[in-house]
Amino acid sequence: AKAAGKNRFHFHTEVAAREAARQFELEAQLRLAIAREEFELHYQPKLGVDDRAVTAVEALVRWRHPNRGLVMPGEFIALAEDRGLIVAIGRLVIKMACRQIAAWRRQGIEPPCVAINVSAKQFADDVLLADLTAAMTESSVGGGELVVELTETALMADPERATGVLEALRRLGVRIAIDDFGTGYSSLSYLKRFPADEVKIDRSFVDGLPEDPDDLAITQAVIAMAHSLGMKVVAEGVETEAQRSALAAMGCDQMQGYLLGRPMPVEDLVGRLSKAVHG
Ligand code: C2E
Ligand code: CA
Ligand code: CA
Ligand code: CA
Repeated sequence: AKAAGKNRFHFHTEVAAREAARQFELEAQLRLAIAREEFELHYQPKLGVDDRAVTAVEALVRWRHPNRGLVMPGEFIALAEDRGLIVAIGRLVIKMACRQIAAWRRQGIEPPCVAINVSAKQFADDVLLADLTAAMTESSVGGGELVVELTETALMADPERATGVLEALRRLGVRIAIDDFGTGYSSLSYLKRFPADEVKIDRSFVDGLPEDPDDLAITQAVIAMAHSLGMKVVAEGVETEAQRSALAAMGCDQMQGYLLGRPMPVEDLVGRLSKAVHG
């Protein structure tokens, strides 16, 4: 038994060492990727619940790895946050989103609003506002063309400071969405004090619709509360027609999900946009 215990110990340390080496390698590659700007944005439409018109698009980052192909954010965003690389990646995301808006305009396409995901560490860094302003100026993008998506965690880390940053974003004309709503620990009083324009109901609640009574109750409560505070509600992760119609019946404003459109490269999105613009 002792020998087995020892082996298990060796096994665990080996696994841990291999994982640490893998993370180290990934971090080194990520640093190179930032220098080489190996990132691209895919876009997922946000649509009106009733008319299904594209109201905005959410920019979702992908890493175009030289030999691994397309790497999803779930594989590198957490590490980037941990190793202090998220601000540099976020800066590239902001720049790419603004350049895309300018490109659409040059092509005679009415640009949709672009929602940008900003992670907690990036929100906590004072450079965010400067990065946004620089990219907006470079591409002649107005604040009204951008939405910043923030999680409750990002806002609650330092609520005092968060309120100030949100007000500064608002002065730029940038709209604010609270992402993954319901999964954090923010209270009603905080929601009231943060000047947000939009609340995104987390996919974990939408999953259970329309059958799960708890998910129904939570969704209904979030919609009622958000509306009473003058905020719009976006449901994430809508995959079925039954979910869509339940959300429509509850008065949800907008939705996103595989039922309506997966995140897609910009070439694929253009068809959806011209449809939205030209009827
Ligand atoms: P999120 O902001 O909550 O984005 C929604 C995620 O759900 C996306 O995954 C999207 O592809 C996926 N999704 C959309 N509709 C459906 C659906 O109907 N069913 C299911 N099962 N999934 C759906 P993705 O693109 O892998 O992004 C994952 C997360 O990575 C995002 O979650 C966001 O937190 C983060 N992320 C993505 N892009 C950026 C970025 O540019 N900066 C930062 N800081 N984080 C980002
Ligand atoms: Ca988001
Ligand atoms: Ca989410
Ligand atoms: Ca998320």
